[in-house]
Amino acid sequence: MDKKRRIVVKVGTNVMTNKDNRILGPILKSLVRQIATLYEEDIMVVLVSSGSAIAGKEILGQISVEDASKRRQVYSSVGQPRMMRHYYSIFHDYGMRCAQVLATKRDFSPGIHRENMINCYESLLSEGIIPIANEDDAVSVTMSMFSDNDELASLVAELIGAEKLIILSDTDGLYTGHPEHDDSEKLNKVQIDENVEKYVQQSEKGEGEGRGGMESKIKIAKGTAAKNIDTYIANGKREDVILDIMAGKPVGTKFTT
Ligand code: GLU
Repeated sequence: MDKKRRIVVKVGTNVMTNKDNRILGPILKSLVRQIATLYEEDIMVVLVSSGSAIAGKEILGQISVEDASKRRQVYSSVGQPRMMRHYYSIFHDYGMRCAQVLATKRDFSPGIHRENMINCYESLLSEGIIPIANEDDAVSVTMSMFSDNDELASLVAELIGAEKLIILSDTDGLYTGHPEHDDSEKLNKVQIDENVEKYVQQSEKGEGEGRGGMESKIKIAKGTAAKNIDTYIANGKREDVILDIMAGKPVGTKFTT
C-alpha cells in the first residue's frame, strides 16, 4: 500500500499562457520543479492541467469548423498531445515519469468507470508516476462535461484521498474588493460558511479560453473543504507557490472547515 502523502494541483489556462495566448514553457518548468521537490519529500502530486484548447489553437490557428463545440473538440484533441509532450520532456529532465489520465464527468459516477479510474490512479501513484489529468474534451460535450477543470480537480482530490487541493489561477487569492485597489485586502483564510461570494468582482466571473471564474472557484473550494480537503486558491505565476503553501506560508486564500 502506498503510504505517500497526496495533493492535487490544478493549473488553469490563464496561468500557463501570456497575453498573446502562447504557452509559457518557464511556468510549466517551474510547476514540474516544485512537483519534483515534493516528490523528494514523499509527497505525490496529481496535476490537473488545462491548456489543451489553447495549445491546439496555437498549432492550428483559425479553422473552418463553425460550430463552437466541435471547434473546441478539434482544438483540444490536437492540443492535448502537445501539452503532454511539454510535460513528458520536462518531467524526463527531472528523472521523473508522468502519465495522462483523461476523464468525463460520467466516469466519476459510481460504477465500473469509477473503479477503473481509482485502480489507474492508485497504480500510477504506487509506481511513483505523476498522473496528469484533464477533461476528455474530445468526447466530453454537454451532459458529460465538468463545469470546469476546478470541478474535475475537486473530484480527483476526493477520489484519491488528497490532503490538499491547490487551485492555481492568475490572481493571488480572494480579495475583499477589486484585487488592484489599495483598499482591498487578500483573505488568507475562509471558513466554508462565510459569505465571501459578495466580494467577487464582475471582471472575475470568468472569461477567455479557460472556463470557470472566481465565483465557481469559491463554490468548488468550499465544497472540497467541506470534505476535509483544505483547498487553496493561489497565483500560479508566483515563484514556489506550491512549496510555500505546503510549508504553511500565508500564500493564496485557504478554504477550510
Ligand atoms: N479542459 C480544457 C483545456 O484543457 C480546460 C477547461 C477549463 O478551463 O476549466 O483546455
